[in-house]
Amino acid sequence: MKKKWYDFLWIAELLYLTLGLFNILFAWLGMVFFVIPLLVAAIGGSKTYCNRFCGRGQLLGLLGTRLKLSRNRKPPKFLRSRWFRYGFLTFFMTMFCLMLLNTYKVFTGAPLRETVTLLWMFKLPWQWAEVGMASPWIAQYAFGFFGVMLTSTILGLVTMILFRPRTWCVYCPMGTMTQGICQLKQGKECTDCGRTSEKDSGAA
Ligand code: SF4
Repeated sequence: MKKKWYDFLWIAELLYLTLGLFNILFAWLGMVFFVIPLLVAAIGGSKTYCNRFCGRGQLLGLLGTRLKLSRNRKPPKFLRSRWFRYGFLTFFMTMFCLMLLNTYKVFTGAPLRETVTLLWMFKLPWQWAEVGMASPWIAQYAFGFFGVMLTSTILGLVTMILFRPRTWCVYCPMGTMTQGICQLKQGKECTDCGRTSEKDSGAA
């Protein structure tokens, strides 16, 4: 089947993760990966973003299938359960709010912390990544947001290796949110709300 431009969005994902190593302010570009899926779900009422435009999902699919980095085992049942997916979303959003709070503290005069937090625990010094002339709070948000993106990438890679290539899609907070929005919008169990992206790639 002839490839379309959006089949190569995994390159954008790779580029994003690389650019943040050199200039942390590029982390702001990741907002696109947050806002667009929500807009597509809210306006279109579908999971088109997940099924077609998500570079991260594509990247995990490629690493797992083409490069055969995945053990291709069925993911544990609890990952698909409602309580786990919504529990993980709640946890993820709580940590996101704490990151916003840290940004606010810097905005009001607290010192900038040039660290990237991985897996919500490990603070890595990140002084080499250019901050430039940006206001400290802009840089602080970038450090925090890049930590969020790297953390979700690590979780995606680990579950890709242990289970099926796109197992991350089963419990991805963005996927949970867009699925919830689609279901709310359609007011019933909708046919396009299912996580077809992970089914396509064998995570289901
Ligand atoms: S569930 Fe998450 S990672 Fe998977 S396709 Fe959707 S937004 Fe991308």
